[in-house]
Amino acid sequence: MSETLELKKTVNLPKTDFAQKANLGQSEPARLQKWTDAKLYDLIRVARKGAEKFILHDGPPYANSDIHLGTALNKILKDFVVKSRTMMGFDSPYVPGYDCHGLPIETYVEKKLAEKGKNKNDLPVSTFRRLCREHAANAMNGQTRDFSRLGVLGEWANPYLTMSNEFEAETARSFGKFLERGYVYKGLRPVYWCIHDQTALAEAEVEYKEHTSPSVYVKFPLKSDAGLIDEKLRNKNMSVVIWTTTPWTLPANLGITVHPDFDYSAVEAKGEVYIVASELAKSFAETCGLGEAKELVRFKGKQLDKLEAKHAWLDRVSLLMNGDHVTLGEADAEVELDVRFENKAANKSGTGCVHTAPGHGHDDFVIGKQYGLEIYCPVDNAGKFTAEVEHFAGENIFKANPKIVDFLRESGALLYSENYNHRYPHCWRCKNPVIFRATPQWFVSMDKEAQNGEKISLRENALSEVEKVKWHPNWGEGRMRNMLKNRPDWCVSRQRSWGVPIPVFYCNGCDEAVADAEIVNHVADIFQQETADAWYNREAKDLLPENFKCSKCDGADFTKETDILDVWFDSGSSCVAVLGTRDNLQFPADVYFEGGDQFRGWFNSSLMCGLAAHDQSPYKQVVTYGWVVDGEGKQMHKSGGNAISPNEVVKKSGAEIIRLWASAMDITEDVRCSDEILSRVTDAYRKFRNTLRYALGNLDGFNPETDKVSVAEMLEIDRWALASLDEVIEKVVSGYENYNFQMVNQTLYNFVNVTLSARYFDIIKDRLYIFPTKSVARRSAQTALYEITDKLCRLLAPILAFTADEAFENLPNQTIASVHLAEFPKVSGTDDSKLLTDWERIFSIRDEVLKALEEARGTKIIGSSLEAKVILTVDKDTTYFLLNYFEDLRYVFIVSQVEVHEGDKFNVEIQKADGVKCERCWNYSVRVGEFEKYPTVCERCSAALAEIEVK
Ligand SMILES: [Zn+2]
Ligand SMILES: [Zn+2]
Ligand SMILES: [Zn+2]
Repeated sequence: MSETLELKKTVNLPKTDFAQKANLGQSEPARLQKWTDAKLYDLIRVARKGAEKFILHDGPPYANSDIHLGTALNKILKDFVVKSRTMMGFDSPYVPGYDCHGLPIETYVEKKLAEKGKNKNDLPVSTFRRLCREHAANAMNGQTRDFSRLGVLGEWANPYLTMSNEFEAETARSFGKFLERGYVYKGLRPVYWCIHDQTALAEAEVEYKEHTSPSVYVKFPLKSDAGLIDEKLRNKNMSVVIWTTTPWTLPANLGITVHPDFDYSAVEAKGEVYIVASELAKSFAETCGLGEAKELVRFKGKQLDKLEAKHAWLDRVSLLMNGDHVTLGEADAEVELDVRFENKAANKSGTGCVHTAPGHGHDDFVIGKQYGLEIYCPVDNAGKFTAEVEHFAGENIFKANPKIVDFLRESGALLYSENYNHRYPHCWRCKNPVIFRATPQWFVSMDKEAQNGEKISLRENALSEVEKVKWHPNWGEGRMRNMLKNRPDWCVSRQRSWGVPIPVFYCNGCDEAVADAEIVNHVADIFQQETADAWYNREAKDLLPENFKCSKCDGADFTKETDILDVWFDSGSSCVAVLGTRDNLQFPADVYFEGGDQFRGWFNSSLMCGLAAHDQSPYKQVVTYGWVVDGEGKQMHKSGGNAISPNEVVKKSGAEIIRLWASAMDITEDVRCSDEILSRVTDAYRKFRNTLRYALGNLDGFNPETDKVSVAEMLEIDRWALASLDEVIEKVVSGYENYNFQMVNQTLYNFVNVTLSARYFDIIKDRLYIFPTKSVARRSAQTALYEITDKLCRLLAPILAFTADEAFENLPNQTIASVHLAEFPKVSGTDDSKLLTDWERIFSIRDEVLKALEEARGTKIIGSSLEAKVILTVDKDTTYFLLNYFEDLRYVFIVSQVEVHEGDKFNVEIQKADGVKCERCWNYSVRVGEFEKYPTVCERCSAALAEIEVK
């Protein structure tokens, strides 16, 4: 007994402080504290000082709520980029940002006020803004706490805030740049308008949802003589039939648009004559219950150009016009944002004669301008008809819809009406349906040529810059191009209070607008000192330069603009306000990395601001990724009960689990997450952890300075392990370079799970445990293990930021304070292809042997594999091949004895091993008992013990 105990002591058992149980809930905060105490982020900056920069510019999340899985994923993916570029040797600072202005915060504050029975309008604007500022600051602090808890390293103590005085000043200056170039104009134009929030909305602020509208077919009597269309029709009464799903826009109707090249027909049915597109005549007559429609005449739409119809009920002309935007098919979903929401040009339910209200639609506006129509909009801010609208003055437009339908029916103008389901834009905040409404707004023109610099429009400039950008995935380029081709002028004004005021003045003497870059910069300097609140705290004269006079009438009395800038203008300006002002950053950024919804949003507005300021795209690369959805692919909703809270996962399982999940998924598609997925990720995490622990345990007492053996001295299988590691390094680093974190994850997981766990670790275990501590054979395995662990930690560090750091710290004689200060390993550069193919051949034989061993265990021929002797029959070529590895085979198969025979047919036979079990290594040997001094051990152990005793 005592001998057995002593023998046990001679076995090199693994030992490490790297615990098996991760306890991430406690260990992560402790490690974060350690990083903070050591000023890790600053140490990285010092270590990379002078290196080539790599700037990921943070798209600012909205500072009005807790983080959710989508925002957590966003920050973690960016952290992968920043950490991996840092480890590639770049100086890659990360300045997180927050979007602090805008409607969601106003809405929140208004709600809070309402709870106290107060109203926004009873407060001075400056007080309301203070409340908004406080709410944004609170939300921001919460997000900062949660984002940094995820292991995201950055300048959390000094993030950029769109509400800081510096940023507000830069936003104003950015507006000045647009002014300077002559891109800005004030005009009456239809814009998305929320009648609930009473403000204009940007394209990126509307969401399309199913909506039911009344669809109506309405007669507009032809006023001009029909003989002008065709002699046969002279003196005949007839009506042009329009179809619309927005009856409330009919009071604003000023025209009807037809396609010049389409065929139109005058058809007779039930004693009346109607003009509709020929192709739709049949379906029109059927839908409206007119029975058989007889075609009288067919003609091209251009025949109708500039003829006049009478409004369906008002005493007003409706002008017939020609427009190429009229279609007879389904409206294109891709250009959804550009067409009026009734899918104007209609689908099969239309008539090819499009009701045109220049005050209520983009195409309507364009064609109305072309034909000199008024941009007429008899609907007020709250969505009520103005006094001039007969019968319906003061009515809410949506409530008026059915009344208008009834009115049309009674007056005989209605041919048919039904309910119509379609995709309709809704306000992103209040979720109410929005309208298109012409209001006086400030616009950035997409097509005006710049007044200084190159004579090129923003749109052309943007389209040519898009080509120079590298898009991941590469379909992003087409997506962006379409977005830019179709986008209307940018409406940058909002009728709200919480934002950067548009620094424009109006002369009280002559109404002239003072919109001038120099004045804007003067105001911006004041903002820089006092925040943009100065606009509300100071009088106009105290914001203007001293003794400023109107250039037109010499007046000195001015009024301030009351509109603020679109929040997308704020965040779009970050490329100048942040990249251009922080010492450690630079314009343009190397990469913007955001969700696919930002093609319409931040990528777009940033590009405009970058072009206005520097004639250059603010990003060299753009990476986009998919939405976070649940396990079934459905959108996550707090109310739906399928939302996963990142903070809860962090508390329960650790941030590492979310980080590992983020790397495990294909982010080019919708990114799924569920408890089941997370539990699989947790299993994978354990695999990584156990692998690191095995390696660290077996490095106990190994000093890389003195104990490493040279490659030439190493056993071949150890060299094979290093060659496999080389392959992994190459793949992983390229995965990081290409933002393919899933490839990084899969490569590392495969390495850990197959190469190391299922193969290498099993095989070297005997050598590590049994051989004399300092023997070359054992040191060879340890040298490989050390290299593997050191490099694996580095490769894992961007993803498993906590665990890799913990393992790295536990490497013997570690001199680097944190893995995040280290660099990615380089490949050795030797050609190991023969080594790798040879060993693949051995492993394929091993697979067969393991199968046979499993069967032998099943039939009770053997218990453990060390009780086995393997008798291999292989062909001649393989026999010669295996001869070179004969000494290794018993270790590779983890058995006590191996015989190789040449034969025709490959065969594996398992027998019980010869001899007796060695008490020390549990291998079987016929020589146990031969050694007088150690009667219970084998020849290997006897030699090892002799060596140990000499020591
Ligand atoms: Zn709204
Ligand atoms: Zn004036
Ligand atoms: Zn032994």
